[in-house]
Amino acid sequence: MSSHYYQICKTCVMDSTMAGTVFNEEGICNNCTEFPEKAAIHWMPNDKGVARLDAMLAKIKEQGAGKEYDCIFGLSGGVDSSFLAFKAKEWGLRPLVLHVDGGWNTELAAANIRCVVDENGYDLVTEVVDWETMKDLQKAYLRAGVTNQDVPQDHVFIASLFHYARKHKIKAIISGHNFATESTPMRWQHPAMDLINLRAIHKAHGERPIQGYRTISALEYYIFSPLVRLIKFYHPLNLIPYDKEESIKFLESKGWRNYQRKHGESIFTRIFQDCILPKKFGIDKRRAHLTSLIHSGGMSRDRALAILKEPVCNEIEIRREIEFFCRKIGLTVEEFDQLMVEGSRSHKYYKNWDCYYNFMKYFKGAVLRLRG
Ligand SMILES: [Zn+2]
Repeated sequence: MSSHYYQICKTCVMDSTMAGTVFNEEGICNNCTEFPEKAAIHWMPNDKGVARLDAMLAKIKEQGAGKEYDCIFGLSGGVDSSFLAFKAKEWGLRPLVLHVDGGWNTELAAANIRCVVDENGYDLVTEVVDWETMKDLQKAYLRAGVTNQDVPQDHVFIASLFHYARKHKIKAIISGHNFATESTPMRWQHPAMDLINLRAIHKAHGERPIQGYRTISALEYYIFSPLVRLIKFYHPLNLIPYDKEESIKFLESKGWRNYQRKHGESIFTRIFQDCILPKKFGIDKRRAHLTSLIHSGGMSRDRALAILKEPVCNEIEIRREIEFFCRKIGLTVEEFDQLMVEGSRSHKYYKNWDCYYNFMKYFKGAVLRLRG
């Protein structure tokens, strides 16, 4: 089969433009064939989930007894993390709320964060990333031309979560990530936790030292935090029926305001998903999102195909945002446009963790299994 042969899955909307998607003889993709097994492990919006959730909450509360906080979570102001914030209160958790400000928040996101924190009476810690470093890292990633342009934002977010968890002796990080809307893996993305890769890309294309930007090493992330400090991620939204539209209605009743556009909380995420991914890499991330909804029963394939016929974004609006983005980050629009047509590079072009990544995952899994 030629690599130029176009194919779309018969049961979802993933296609051959999405790196890592492979098809069986019946024309069904690996996301569809792998879904049932993964769902059986991670996704329980049913009675089984209720029991699991009770056990999860009891463990978090027990580990946090006598401490100022029993868990931590990151709040972006988006639907998932805002909804999780209200649920945490309902479940009787005592979280420390972390917001990482990478410089791309919209005003509405800031207002929603305040609303969620005030409504629930939480303590909020805001980690403001040094803007000059953030800008330098993001420009370095653009110039490197690797697919996962989200790394500078994602890495500092996770690094900060672990930093504050350690600082306050918190063992539980709860996450709004959920199987109902985000089960399709982003196989084209190299993980944001690869600090070796981040440093190598910055060394090749950055202009100033990294400072005021928290990092976390792979050893800390895979070995010390989970195995020695016993810090663990929990995904409670996988244990309840989670419907985004219902969640939005609930949040609006609490004074939170919905975004008029998707990715309304971060200007960078909008540029990345609406412009950089489709233009430079030929990736329409909506395919992964819609496929997750098809798998969890939240959408029909026909409806998803109809949505995909609509353009990814409004061309005039996105041009205006690109101008703003370039001004803010310190690139000319011509430079940006040039980067969009230049060839892309694999993360492997730069030093990375690939040679010992599998060993770390295996080691962590083996130790956790041994401990039961
Ligand atoms: Zn499929």
